[in-house]
Amino acid sequence: MKVSQRAQKVAPSATLAVTNRAKELKAQGKDVVGFGAGEPDFDTPDYIKDAAIKALKEGKTKYTPASGIPELRAAIAKKLEAENGLKYAPEQIVVNIGGKHSVYEAMQAVLDPGDELLLPAPFWVTYPEAAGLAGAVVKIMETSKEDSYKITPAQLKKAITSKTTMLVLNSPNNPGGFTYTPDELRALAKVLEGTSVCVMSDEIYEKLIYGDTKFISFAALSQDAYNRTLTLNGLSKTYSMTGWRLGYTAGPLDVIKAMARLQDHMTSNPVTFAQYAAIAAMGPQSAATIEKMRVEFEKRARYMTDRLRAIKGVECTEPTGAFYCFPDVSAHYGRTIGGAKITGSMDFAKALLEQAMVGVVPGLPFGCDANVRLSFACSMEQITKGLDRIQKWLSQ
Ligand code: PMP
Repeated sequence: MKVSQRAQKVAPSATLAVTNRAKELKAQGKDVVGFGAGEPDFDTPDYIKDAAIKALKEGKTKYTPASGIPELRAAIAKKLEAENGLKYAPEQIVVNIGGKHSVYEAMQAVLDPGDELLLPAPFWVTYPEAAGLAGAVVKIMETSKEDSYKITPAQLKKAITSKTTMLVLNSPNNPGGFTYTPDELRALAKVLEGTSVCVMSDEIYEKLIYGDTKFISFAALSQDAYNRTLTLNGLSKTYSMTGWRLGYTAGPLDVIKAMARLQDHMTSNPVTFAQYAAIAAMGPQSAATIEKMRVEFEKRARYMTDRLRAIKGVECTEPTGAFYCFPDVSAHYGRTIGGAKITGSMDFAKALLEQAMVGVVPGLPFGCDANVRLSFACSMEQITKGLDRIQKWLSQ
């Protein structure tokens, strides 16, 4: 059957390719250590599950308003005001079916064919695909390890053209594990003043920050920033709810209304009983649960960074957010390891998996071929075992 040009252009997820091969090897009985996970290794807390069960028992099993139940939109508005200093009316919020859906819908609502989208590398793989589906032209902004993989104000200023419609910011960052400081964001916001560039600020990892890192929402920087920003967030990472599919977008009323119209016809409402669980998740009980998870991630981040730094030819910035280390392993490119020629991150990840049974995600699809991504959303025991193997494999 015919497949549309649009669908043909969408790249298969290169991140999934390694994960799938790791699963295949595991199914063959191989002892694989997987550092590919993009989700917390903690279960959804019981009080959240109980709220969903209660909702189901009460018959909350029918359609809701497509943008989400009013109670949930009000709870999100309350959260954004209390935690992020952002005043949004519930009508300025649309609940989406996962943060990924928020990204897709926001881009569909804002971008026209030919519009330019500025995408700092490294980037989460969904952004360029979602932008492409909206017909936008993706302009990748290269960064360097010297700048901790962050774009600079001068670079942003230079990149903006009359066609620039959207800038994607994702801090804390997947895959980079870095976080922009409030001052760095302020400097970027200043560059945007006087332009018509919209910012899509993906803040899904906001609670997973380490050391003395401070998180600030881009829209909270100034009235100007507020007016030009779509604030994206979701429940997947903060509350260990990846399977529940809950994300949300807050922003200017006209764009949120446009997103709601799209949602009316694409998906209708997010799963009804999951929305009640989301209200429980956003309640006061969560602070302690999140902190426990954050502390555990912080410990793993330190350990993984130290171990990676101890390996010859591996350079690693300590993560300040999210749950990924993103070391530069390019000193090993050009070598032949265990009979495999390593020319870039794809070869590196493939050979590491086949030879040493460790799954990492190549940096190429994230826009940084010098790097690979290791998730520390797995046990300390697995982390230790995997790093022992990487160390041994690279010291051949
Ligand atoms: N944004 C970023 C940066 C992510 O890493 C992810 C998950 N990988 C998402 C958004 C979306 O997550 P979900 O669709 O599960 O809400």
